[in-house]
Amino acid sequence: MKIHEFQAKQILREHGIPIPKGDVATSVDEAVKVAKGLSLPIVVKSQVHVGGRGKAGGVKVAKTMDEVRAHADAILGMDIKGCIVRTVLLEEAADIKEELYIGFVIDRASKKPVLIASAAGGVEIEKVAAETPEKILQEVVEPSLGLCDFQVRRAAFFLKIPKSGMKTFTYTLHALHIAFISKDCSLAEINPLVITGEGNVIACDAKMNFDDNALGRHPELEAMRDDREEEPLEVEARRAGVNYVKLDGKIGCIVNGAGLAMATMDVVKHFGGEPANFLDIGGGAKADQVTEALRIVTSDPTVNTILFNIFGGIVRCDRVAEGILQAKERLSLDLPIVLRLVGTNQREARKMLEGTDLIMLETMSEAAQRAVELSRR
Ligand code: GDP
Ligand code: MN
Repeated sequence: MKIHEFQAKQILREHGIPIPKGDVATSVDEAVKVAKGLSLPIVVKSQVHVGGRGKAGGVKVAKTMDEVRAHADAILGMDIKGCIVRTVLLEEAADIKEELYIGFVIDRASKKPVLIASAAGGVEIEKVAAETPEKILQEVVEPSLGLCDFQVRRAAFFLKIPKSGMKTFTYTLHALHIAFISKDCSLAEINPLVITGEGNVIACDAKMNFDDNALGRHPELEAMRDDREEEPLEVEARRAGVNYVKLDGKIGCIVNGAGLAMATMDVVKHFGGEPANFLDIGGGAKADQVTEALRIVTSDPTVNTILFNIFGGIVRCDRVAEGILQAKERLSLDLPIVLRLVGTNQREARKMLEGTDLIMLETMSEAAQRAVELSRR
């Protein structure tokens, strides 16, 4: 799960990291009101779940109140990489001398958190990593030891932190690590971490992503979720209790179990087709969930064929059949539906579906192949 910059900054502030003074607004008048409580110059920042806002014109510095009004007016409603700006953050602008990058991510290779630091902050770190990897420091954090002082010193020397900012930098790096661990982040970064003209350290941008599987123990993070920033069909799917990820192909796949769903996508690709989604209806799916899954998959306008791949263990095939019949009745479905339905209660299911226009096949390959043929329209 992602959150907005102002929310990440709120978490970092709670951890004692220095953040510029500021607040959010959702209208131009409100922005001006917030700005009146701050001293100029003020930076006006779009709050959307995408990076590179600066380059897209979504971050602007205002030297006067008139400029605050003009920038807020220009940024609110702006479309940045498909995200509409509904909120702006107004902050006292920092006097930037240097822009650094610090962040923690989970490294899947070492299965440990890694500290990443670079003096080439401000721009996208992926670009720095690809073009000038020598400008990046990586320090694996041993979970049993935590972030060690020698690693913090190594980072400080690598980044050439001035003496005046050393204390704040050391504190900030430790605090960012603590926030990363305690909030179950998959990513926590400050970019840029700014060295000001006076030699102080301050966090001018913040980004945090969380491990969805850990959200159960973080109601405070769940409360920060902004549904409007997420794929609408994925939001509906979450509410219906099915795992759905939208993709770009034409074959809508409805499968039980994440492993089988992945395998189904592979088989579709093997026969030259493109899956429109990943969808796992879960282990104990009921008819209603199947109906809901069909509704979600078919509301994607690029889908022209449906492929069901059900291996009934805990899921009962008759419940799936009931869900399909229910969906056919409730939604006006005119797409071809290919079914591979085996396992618990498969005979009952077949009987229920007799006489319908559904295409029932025995094996996963047959079903995938037929779906691919049908999708070529
Ligand atoms: P991003 O482009 O989405 O990563 O947004 P950032 O918050 O990182 O802002 C992009 C750039 O705007 C930064 O790299 C800075 O150059 C500039 N910027 C951000 N905050 C300030 C500020 O307080 N003062 C000044 N002068 N520039 C800022
Ligand atoms: Mn940034």
